[in-house]
Amino acid sequence: MSAESDSPGALFGAKLALSRAIGAASRRSGRGGGTTLPGRVLLRMEPEAIAALGSRLERGTTIVSATNGKTTTTGMIAAILAADGRRPVHNRAGSNMTWGVATALLEQDGEEGLFEVDEAWLPRVAEQLQPATIVLGNLFRDQLDRYGEMEALADDWARTVAARAGRTGFVLNADDPLIADLGRDPEGERREGVFYFGIEDDSQALPELQHAFDAKHCRRCGHPYAYRRAFVGHLGHYSCPNCGAERPRPEVAATAIELRGMDGSRTRVRIPSGEIELELPLPGLYNVYNALAAVAAGLRLGVAPERIAAALGEMRAAFGRVETIEVGGVPVSILLIKNPAGANEVLRTLLLESREGEGGIDLWIALNDRIADGRDVSWVWDADFELLAGRVRRVVCAGTRAPEMALRLKYAGWPEEEIEVVAEIGGSLDAAVSAADGRLFALPTYTALLELRKLLADRGLAEEFWR
Ligand SMILES: [Zn+2]
Repeated sequence: MSAESDSPGALFGAKLALSRAIGAASRRSGRGGGTTLPGRVLLRMEPEAIAALGSRLERGTTIVSATNGKTTTTGMIAAILAADGRRPVHNRAGSNMTWGVATALLEQDGEEGLFEVDEAWLPRVAEQLQPATIVLGNLFRDQLDRYGEMEALADDWARTVAARAGRTGFVLNADDPLIADLGRDPEGERREGVFYFGIEDDSQALPELQHAFDAKHCRRCGHPYAYRRAFVGHLGHYSCPNCGAERPRPEVAATAIELRGMDGSRTRVRIPSGEIELELPLPGLYNVYNALAAVAAGLRLGVAPERIAAALGEMRAAFGRVETIEVGGVPVSILLIKNPAGANEVLRTLLLESREGEGGIDLWIALNDRIADGRDVSWVWDADFELLAGRVRRVVCAGTRAPEMALRLKYAGWPEEEIEVVAEIGGSLDAAVSAADGRLFALPTYTALLELRKLLADRGLAEEFWR
């Protein structure tokens, strides 16, 4: 506290105290624990507060960003650090803009930081926090109306990496060419402190490039990359036929993957000191990528490999990404869909849950076009709903754009008589639950997930906020 007792530290200390008091008052007034109001207030008074508070984290800070999976990856790293007896200052899932980071720094004490950061805010937060480690998972096109932003983001990230090279360690996805290239200097040489992860199990390659695959152009020369195989969207093994730029060999690589549907996966992982086996309770190849990023980060942060494997094995789907809630006696498994690449992974996972000729699975798909979803919902035409044609018993379409969803499914070859449209969230969920024969899979877009959570909370079935 002594640093806060003399001027100008005293003034900063007063601003911290005021922001904390406002947070406490806000919680007392029943606004819930999820508010980032303290951080907003603090940044208003002290725009450089993140830098000042971050410099107190003696063991350094780790930042995680990606279009898909940053919440899960950050949660995995938190679990790994917890297994090592460390409790980082950590922002709540979704509170990943500057005010979320500032709120965590205000309200938690710790020796190190672990922050999930929104893609667009990464350069600004990295400049302030001066992180020891930055983990970059992937860059996917989120919605069609944001087209072009992805390349602009890659350019912004490249400037951040170049500015911090030598001072920060980077954990990068070798299989995403936009990310992998960040680890090379202008001469094409690997930068100091760069650590790559990737998948090297060819049996997991897609039979062909997906709808969601949008051609990536070489960041060096602009020529389209040639792909030998792709695993998730544009993540795969690629090279540039023009200048020869290639996927770097990863230090952390999944060499044998066994997917077990909703039950998760088992993966053998090559690490610099040998090999570890991961039993992941989270489904899908996308979670294998998240786990590889977390393993690489954990190793960089000095955690023993066996401890990392044990921590990941005990993970639960606690991040609102996959969870099962009982509604009227029917288990409802919720899987967020928000963009073509993410939706395709959900569809591939469901394909493993369904068996041909066994009656098919029951689905509830809620498509909203509110601002947080992206107003343009035409991305559903880029997701491979064709994968599940003939595997679905019944689907109820919900949300503000339910009819368009139903139309999309019809074009995907799903029989019309199996598709029902009930736009209103509560009524449609009830219709889907009462028609379900066993488990119901609920696939909401982001704001539909929020509405669903609220509905379930109002019925006393779930808490409104998840971590
Ligand atoms: Zn090239």
